[in-house]
Amino acid sequence: MLLAVLAGAPAQLRADVCGRGRAQSPIDVVLTQPRALPGLEVRYRFGQPRLANDGHTLRLRFADGGHLIIGTQRFRLQQIHFHSPGGDKVRGEEFPMAAHYLHRGSDGSLLSLVVFFRIGHENPLLARLLDTMPAPDSRERPVAADRLDRDAAIPVRRGYYAYRGSLTAPPCTEGVRWLLLKEALELSADQLARYRHAFADNARATQPLYGRIVEESE
Ligand SMILES: [Zn+2]
Repeated sequence: MLLAVLAGAPAQLRADVCGRGRAQSPIDVVLTQPRALPGLEVRYRFGQPRLANDGHTLRLRFADGGHLIIGTQRFRLQQIHFHSPGGDKVRGEEFPMAAHYLHRGSDGSLLSLVVFFRIGHENPLLARLLDTMPAPDSRERPVAADRLDRDAAIPVRRGYYAYRGSLTAPPCTEGVRWLLLKEALELSADQLARYRHAFADNARATQPLYGRIVEESE
């Protein structure tokens, strides 16, 4: 779920947008249009991190997250959270886990960068987070920034899919820019089991495209 930014919206409005929206997330990426999309420049700092367990997901928030730069646009990293299964699919493939990197642009717009995981080697960043995980609905816990492995958080290759979508939890607000990295990271089966023990099946089902086009960087 993306952060419930508009959590104060009336229940009726939430239901309407989630059930009737035509640009909802997540999706199954099947057909794509190759485009000369701008490259992704990652300038994350992971500054002043705090770890939260809201009972639905594990969320790492930053007071000074650094930026993702796309062409001439700058997006500030606000938080990272995790879903299992991964939510978005690629040609029918369901990933056991995905991380959503939630950013906000200078104009207030939302951008979610998705990092998929497949089963393999242990991931050092996840290892740190799972070992530090607070109890459900307890207070956020500060994390030592120098203990977070930023290199373990983002794939080396930055090719991506791009589409226009929504928050994946009520109120399902649309106008969110979604970027899905094509290269996946790995986590161990034990890490996945630990995460799922705390947060089982916390991803929304894929939603219809309704004519939306998925762009693919060349
Ligand atoms: Zn999410």
